[in-house]
Amino acid sequence: MVCVAQGITGRTRPTKVKKQAGAQKRKRDHVDVEQLDDAVAELDLKDGAYKDFTDLPLSGATKAGLKAAHFSMMTDIQAKAIPIALKGHDILGAAKTGSGKTLAFLIPVLENLHRLQHIGADAGLGALIISPTRELAIQIFDVLRKIGKHGHMFAAGLVIGGKSLEAEREALTRMNILVATPGRILQHLSQTAAFNVDDLKMLVLDEADRILDMGFQRDVDAILDYLPKERQTMLFSATQSSKVSDLARLSLHEPEYVSVHAEDKSATPKTLQQNYFVCPVEEKLDTLWSFIQASKKKKILCFFSSAKMVRFVYESFRHMQPGIPLLHIHGRQKQGARLDVTTKFGAAKASCLFATDVAARGLDFPAVDFVIQVDCPEDVDTYIHRVGRTARYHREGRGVLFLAPSEEEGMLRRFEAKKVPIESINARQKKKQSIKSQLVHMCFKDPELKYLAQKAFVTYTKSLYVQKDKEIFNIKNYDLEAFAASLGLPGAPKIRFLKDDDDKKRKHQSRQELAVSDSDEEEAEGKQSKTVRTKYDRMFERQNQNILADHYKKLVQDGEAEGASDENDFTGDAPNVGKDDDDFLAVKRRIPAEGEDAGAEGADYDDPTASKGKVIHLAGASQPLIIDSNRREKLLKSKKKLLNFMDKGKKLIYDDDGNAHEMYELEDEDDFRAKGLPEEQRQKFLDAERDAVAQADVLDKAAAKAKRKEKARKRKERERGEMGVGSDEEGGVEIADADEDALANFRADILSDNDDDDEDDDEQPQKQGKKWFQSDSEEEAAPSKKRKKSKSVRHVEEPQTLEDMEALAAGLLS
Ligand code: ADP
Ligand code: MG
Repeated sequence: MVCVAQGITGRTRPTKVKKQAGAQKRKRDHVDVEQLDDAVAELDLKDGAYKDFTDLPLSGATKAGLKAAHFSMMTDIQAKAIPIALKGHDILGAAKTGSGKTLAFLIPVLENLHRLQHIGADAGLGALIISPTRELAIQIFDVLRKIGKHGHMFAAGLVIGGKSLEAEREALTRMNILVATPGRILQHLSQTAAFNVDDLKMLVLDEADRILDMGFQRDVDAILDYLPKERQTMLFSATQSSKVSDLARLSLHEPEYVSVHAEDKSATPKTLQQNYFVCPVEEKLDTLWSFIQASKKKKILCFFSSAKMVRFVYESFRHMQPGIPLLHIHGRQKQGARLDVTTKFGAAKASCLFATDVAARGLDFPAVDFVIQVDCPEDVDTYIHRVGRTARYHREGRGVLFLAPSEEEGMLRRFEAKKVPIESINARQKKKQSIKSQLVHMCFKDPELKYLAQKAFVTYTKSLYVQKDKEIFNIKNYDLEAFAASLGLPGAPKIRFLKDDDDKKRKHQSRQELAVSDSDEEEAEGKQSKTVRTKYDRMFERQNQNILADHYKKLVQDGEAEGASDENDFTGDAPNVGKDDDDFLAVKRRIPAEGEDAGAEGADYDDPTASKGKVIHLAGASQPLIIDSNRREKLLKSKKKLLNFMDKGKKLIYDDDGNAHEMYELEDEDDFRAKGLPEEQRQKFLDAERDAVAQADVLDKAAAKAKRKEKARKRKERERGEMGVGSDEEGGVEIADADEDALANFRADILSDNDDDDEDDDEQPQKQGKKWFQSDSEEEAAPSKKRKKSKSVRHVEEPQTLEDMEALAAGLLS
């Protein structure tokens, strides 16, 4: 068997000697296969027919592998499922956590492919095993390698991402067995052309209910489209909740239900002791800390609802030196770090691992003493998987679940329905320590920790809000202010709920309507009408407001530590808080835009000078200028821009006594009233103004007339001078004078109205600015027009000489 490590690298070409050995072995196998086929055909499918692996018709290689790994007696699920699977039937396998389901499907995978001699690069992919998490895929692959490396010739690989597609591509095409996560295998199916799955014989879904739930639906449906319908399909999980629709999706063919613990009194292992502890959210961390202090020699696994909670508790507890190695794992870590953590925790004797639900399913850490569920699981199935990380394969283990008082009743009902035996316990008050003041101190000193605490608070609150089971989780039942304080925060960060379109519509509803629709929802859920409205009730009703605690806003300067979106906040493993949770719910982080007037942000910034920026007092400005951004810094270089920040000057008028007055001063009210009624005063003012205008009009007209006369006179003088008029004609001139005067008046009127080239007339728009649509060339063209006109004036002159006549004729012709 050629086993390939993560990313499919490693041994690919056997040596020549090995080639020959391989050829001989294949010949032997051929004989072996015929015998095995016969034996499998005769397998007895009755309960309890086989106890040991050696009782089954298995290949020598598998038997050797099992022996080397010290597996001899089969577990119940193995004894029941393996014979059925060897015969090629589809299987729906359900058995408790830690009951050996992995071997129940790996042995048939190896055996069935072996009997089909589905071996070698040309055979293509024979079996695909899908796991919901990378860690579990790695673990399955390790078991496969452990039992497969004693003589099998399959090429097996692990496809879980984290490496470049290109690097995996070539090796992938030669694989016979693959263990994969849904996303990555789909990527290869759609992008690696040479990856041939047409001859796939077996498909296995481990943690099948998880793979078939909403979170993976799209990927899984797409994968199924690539796979041949004729194949053997096996589904395994501790909580098998496959629906008929799932079976249709998977094209299951008359599946056998192998459910070994269905008749048991409990859905959890017998060796598991389960307790719950009622503890208000604000006391959870104190309780957890006290518990860890009392169990420093143990191996403890603690579950939280979000990656942020994990990080905060890990970082803060680490600072307090708990005296036990701490580890943490969540979906936002790099793959290498995650792998490191699982290896360390697996090998550790005493350690405490803080985890999200990425570690809830399938992982087989040896000898875990305690599983503490600090944040309540979303449902009983998640509880079963989390707690199933202890008490595996007949070993002892303890599970402790922290329940908020409001969660207790609902959760107990659900436990009963799902056959989970769990008992209440109390904490020894004497041993209980409070770490609140330490956390407050740490958050005060370390802004990053405070930021983490705020994020933890927000994601925890979010997780409560999006819980599906509203009978258990009702956001209104938690004292969030106290919870925030228990994380060391000075107050609860405010949260904005961004929901889908429906909620956008809600935005525009009045508060009243909102209150009504909220209570409608409660009725629909069979709840009593609201009791006392707390500030949180109001907070969560204010869905459309820009509400964010001031201290939270200030923290935005620290930047997003992870630099990632919130998409995986909930570890990617909790089905109801999948990829859409960002649309649904988001913290509005209000970052004041650069250059935005911080002082003007009155409502958001109580005291602008309290923020970090430099304060500059400009001469001539009553308000100080705060330099809190690069843009503001630049502003200092521009006097012109700084003028905007200066107070505007006032125009003053000095009276005869030399006293300064503003342009418009309000009259004393008493003086004003003494002058009579406002309406009368108004009328008086209007009359006076009208008279003044009429007088001015008369004067203006007279002045205009005088001006015109003066102009006409000047023109006449000019014309006379030009003609060299003789004394003979003077009388005529006199007669003509009266007529001429009228004509001159007329012409002067025309000119003063129309003619631009009257230089004396300063009322004409002589210095009119360039119009916006007037180009420079147009302006330049204007004087030439002037010249033309003066030329045309010359045309009306009486031709005196022959040259004049010729010039006139040429002008007319042109
Ligand atoms: P499940 O998938 O049902 O949760 P696993 O397959 O992870 O359980 O097995 C749980 C543990 O039991 C593993 O450590 C495994 O090595 C051990 N185990 C499984 N089958 C046997 C067996 N037949 N004999 C001894 N140990 C076994
Ligand atoms: Mg398993």
